[in-house]
Amino acid sequence: MPKYVYSFGGGSAEGRADMKELLGGKGANLAEMANLGLPVPAGFTITTEVCTYYYKHKRTYPKELEAQVQRALKKVETVMQAQFGNPDNPLLVSVRSGARASMPGMMETVLNVGLTSKTIKGLIKKTGNERFAYDAYRRLIMMYSDVVMEKAAGIEPEEGEGIRTQLEKLMTEMKKQKGYEHDTDLTAEDLKILVEQFKEKVKEVLGKPFPDDPMKQLWGGIGAVFQSWNGKRAVAYRRIEGIPDDWGTAVNVQAMVFGNMGNTSATGVAFTRNPATGENTFYGEWLVNAQGEDVVAGIRTPAPLNEATKSEHNKHLLSLEKAMPKTYRELDAIRKKLERHYKDMLDIEFTIQEGRLWMLQCRVGKRTGTAALNIAMDMLKEKLITEKEAVMRISPAQLDELLHPIVDPSAEAKAKPLAKGLPAGPGGASGQIVFTANDAVAWSKKGHKVILVREETNPEDVEGMRAAQGILTARGGMTSHAALVARGWGKCCIVGCGALHIDVERKRLVVDGKEFKEGDVFTLNGTKGNVYAGELPMISASENPRFVHFMKLVDKYRTLKVRTNADTPEDAKKALEFGAEGIGLFRTEHMFYGKNSEAPLFCLRKMIVSKTEEERRKALEELFPYMKKDIKATLEVMNGRPVTIRLLDPPLHEFVPNEPEKRIELAKSLGISIEEFNKRADLLHESNPMMGHRGVRLGITYPEITETQVRAIFEASAELIKEGKKVFPEIMIPVVSTEKELVHQKQIVEKVYKEVCAQYGLKAIPYLFGTMIEIPRAALMAGKIAETAEFFSFGTNDLTQMGFGFSRDDIGGFLPDYLEKHLLPADPFQILDQEGIGELIQIGIQRGRKTRPKLKVGICGEHGGEPYSVMFCHRVGMDYVSCSPFRVPIARLAAAQAAIKFPKK
Ligand code: ADP
Ligand code: MG
Ligand code: MG
Repeated sequence: MPKYVYSFGGGSAEGRADMKELLGGKGANLAEMANLGLPVPAGFTITTEVCTYYYKHKRTYPKELEAQVQRALKKVETVMQAQFGNPDNPLLVSVRSGARASMPGMMETVLNVGLTSKTIKGLIKKTGNERFAYDAYRRLIMMYSDVVMEKAAGIEPEEGEGIRTQLEKLMTEMKKQKGYEHDTDLTAEDLKILVEQFKEKVKEVLGKPFPDDPMKQLWGGIGAVFQSWNGKRAVAYRRIEGIPDDWGTAVNVQAMVFGNMGNTSATGVAFTRNPATGENTFYGEWLVNAQGEDVVAGIRTPAPLNEATKSEHNKHLLSLEKAMPKTYRELDAIRKKLERHYKDMLDIEFTIQEGRLWMLQCRVGKRTGTAALNIAMDMLKEKLITEKEAVMRISPAQLDELLHPIVDPSAEAKAKPLAKGLPAGPGGASGQIVFTANDAVAWSKKGHKVILVREETNPEDVEGMRAAQGILTARGGMTSHAALVARGWGKCCIVGCGALHIDVERKRLVVDGKEFKEGDVFTLNGTKGNVYAGELPMISASENPRFVHFMKLVDKYRTLKVRTNADTPEDAKKALEFGAEGIGLFRTEHMFYGKNSEAPLFCLRKMIVSKTEEERRKALEELFPYMKKDIKATLEVMNGRPVTIRLLDPPLHEFVPNEPEKRIELAKSLGISIEEFNKRADLLHESNPMMGHRGVRLGITYPEITETQVRAIFEASAELIKEGKKVFPEIMIPVVSTEKELVHQKQIVEKVYKEVCAQYGLKAIPYLFGTMIEIPRAALMAGKIAETAEFFSFGTNDLTQMGFGFSRDDIGGFLPDYLEKHLLPADPFQILDQEGIGELIQIGIQRGRKTRPKLKVGICGEHGGEPYSVMFCHRVGMDYVSCSPFRVPIARLAAAQAAIKFPKK
């Protein structure tokens, strides 16, 4: 019989931490904590398979489920010594969602399930605390009517008309009437009345009574959790995070423990180390006399866990360390035990019921890139983890975040913060303020950089948060929704900035007596929590010595080399600083674009419209010194490291000017009439230039073009050798589809090589001759091509274009549909299609190396800096990847992680 339910509690569990796929993250870790002997309220987990079943079978359950749930519930009753539904000694439970990957706040949880008009009497008798019992009851009605009766039923009320809001209004009215300030001021009598009002309201608004039957409540809760997997917010979050829809969620049913039983009860959340900085101090927040959801909701300002981590905002509040020293020490011991066991920084939830500590959740904690780096290097020093594990601890995206700019400290020293909040997400950001998530999305679509300013964020805001450069909230703590989400993304974020008075309707805010409106520019320092009016300059964060040390480890374990795509000595220098080991793509046509391109471009244009070889050679002669100078400067910077120089690639007509004055000038310098010029230019027109007269085809038609470029390369090299420098050019022929093209070009190269050697009196100039593999036919013919080519560089941009038959320039018209309809997992121009295009690459490498075992193989498309694609390149045995200078550290890390995950046999 299939097992759908796994029990935990009472010192053991059926599950384990490594069963996340089946039990979800929360269930697997609850089981692990129970196995570790930690105080976990007993419970059971309904597996993710049931969720999958539920959606495959018209939202019904497998027939075995009910009996298995009954049996597991019995076990809980035995451990907790109370019975679900027993009016004298009732067991209450929570029904909690828990997906494989954490989706903070995206799915639903219902607490206090099992409270009815009958069982409440037992709860009062058992606890001797009537006020607490009615407080639990009103919470149940609020959560249940919202989550189960409204959301899961698919009811979508107007903004502010939701059942929860309506019930909250009743509570506010009651408080006002009685002149109370806090929820905790409500007496047992008040709550009793409120509960009745709640029940009436639920019936009136939703047309159904709040169920007074414990089993009905339980199954309602279970169904609602499964339903919430396909809730709008959860779906939107999965899209952003790339979590597959078919993973499903598990459901955890767990005995309730109560943090709201008075002043010896409490609830809290904590990180075993600081998630923003990585500092090795226990870091968290707690609330006395409260239930779990109160901390996250930001209703009351939570107090600090201990003295060491008090901040500006909570230093007046009593720490748990001071308030309940014994329990704090117990919690701190659990923290250490958990870290030693998981060997990582964890995020935990706990509740204290009348002085007794209970653990309710633990998971590997989200952290900023800075924290990831510091925690990895600290844990390495503490010998908790190995060097290899340290390398695996920072994701390429977090490294990217470390390379992201921070607010320039010198500029910041001179600026006065407008306000201060909690540093919830790292780095700096500046942009125009907007007040709603929709505006954030709309403005950024129009190309504006925005800062999303909210009272506090909720899961409906995620898309706007994603679109913004930074997030700023007036309320909430370090564990609020905004903080959690921003930290997960490594996005600059400040929360709990209480000085902000936000008026969403008018799209304005007042701070310190000054008013700001939508569109005004703010700068955030998310590492410190400072908010500035106006824009401050940013600087690079990579000079940190810990970063340098980490990258040394990365290089120790990686086998794949990392080069850069660079066309200028400046880019080459920058890439060397980032750790590049060569240039994988130097595009000769670069000199005809942008700065200082006027003169060489003029010569090139003359060459293009030349009609006879004689005319062309003359133009090429004029162009030659520019080429040589350009190549020489870059070869010099690279000082003996390999530099792959690609011969002219684009179709020539791309360079022919359209402006009449330019045409007249060119005609004059060629000594021909403008009519003649226009005729020649028209002849160059092609209807499909990307597949037209370009790349090697130019060198076939006009061998003198190849000859001149090759001469420039060899002369530049020869001169550098004579100056005592080292060079290693690799001459690369683009757009090759047959081996004969290469043979043809090779003859030219060899002829020029001999001439230049003789001319400079050199015995040899080191170089390689090779080709780009970017046409599917070339990949298939690799065996023959390798007879001539000494290296291959996979041009995966064109290989993807021609392999799919997707025009790179027109993909915007249909790709969104492909992604939306799940016909493709990702944009194949961003993330290499390993299945199809990858197969072409593998064939190319295998066949090429069969002919020439030492064949050097690399990649020079955009994919060379994309972590998944880099891992693929490692696995198929490439020698190097090449990417833009800024991506070099990311490629180095991805290569090291690939080497650790897939060691070479
Ligand atoms: P989320 O995944 O959104 O954090 P949880 O399932 O963790 O949702 O529950 C929400 C809150 O309720 C948390 O603060 C949690 O600690 C608390 N909670 C959940 N189950 C129980 C329980 N059995 N007893 C006491 N508090 C609980
Ligand atoms: Mg939780
Ligand atoms: Mg190409």
